Amino acid sequence: MAGLSLQGVKKRFGHTEVITGVDLSIADGEFVVFVGPSGCGKSTLLRMIAGLETVSDGRIEIGGRDVTNADPAKRGIAMVFQTYALYPHMSVAANMGFPLEMAGLPQPEIDAKVAEAAKILHLEPFLKRKPRELSGGQRQRVAIGRAIVRKPDVFLFDEPLSNLDAELRVQMRIEIARLHQQLKSTMIYVTHDQVEAMTLASRIVVLKAGRIEQVGAPLDLYENPDNMFVAGFIGSPR
Ligand code: ADP
Ligand code: MG
Repeated sequence: MAGLSLQGVKKRFGHTEVITGVDLSIADGEFVVFVGPSGCGKSTLLRMIAGLETVSDGRIEIGGRDVTNADPAKRGIAMVFQTYALYPHMSVAANMGFPLEMAGLPQPEIDAKVAEAAKILHLEPFLKRKPRELSGGQRQRVAIGRAIVRKPDVFLFDEPLSNLDAELRVQMRIEIARLHQQLKSTMIYVTHDQVEAMTLASRIVVLKAGRIEQVGAPLDLYENPDNMFVAGFIGSPR
């Protein structure tokens, strides 16, 4: 288990500063949702936390440990993307076990961890299938399963449901909420969907042009947005 802290985090691509200074503390077990317009830096922020992108300035701590320049594999983090990028030629079980195989775990141990994750995600009947034999929602559950098997302290979700149809999105949203209750991991979740943000978040972070515009509990933001910009994302219509 681990909380997370971002201190003066910046990101430059060439001469362009796309994250202009983010300070944020996230408690252990919190479910924090990032919202904001396309291009405001949500994915870049997640990728820096995951270690998939270098940090230009500032500091990132996970569980009190400075991980600003740490190897992604040593951060205790797993990331689930919008496009689930499963290996088409491999079974569901092999896809889920892949990170453990890379980490050099013995097969019986991999099998046990995959079975455990499959149970949590109701994927047991599908373990022998190939990704193309699954629905969109099932595929995204496999992608989440591949994140779970490593027992990460922190889950990062980058618009994980935006490729699913409306009905599946609702189902998956409920599953993700259940997953959070069950695993009690810290979760950071990027979405465009106001309902997802309102129902999943313990706190919502509204981002604008590379910085935080407002942070608060869903109802706080909904009832007391600081400005029209925040209101446009989360606030009550007035
Ligand atoms: P969001 O996820 O909120 O839509 P991103 O984090 O993907 O936004 O992008 C933030 C800004 O950084 C955008 O202007 C984008 O064009 C820019 N950007 C992202 N990745 C790169 C990169 N590898 N090289 C240059 N610019 C990038
Ligand atoms: Mg993005």
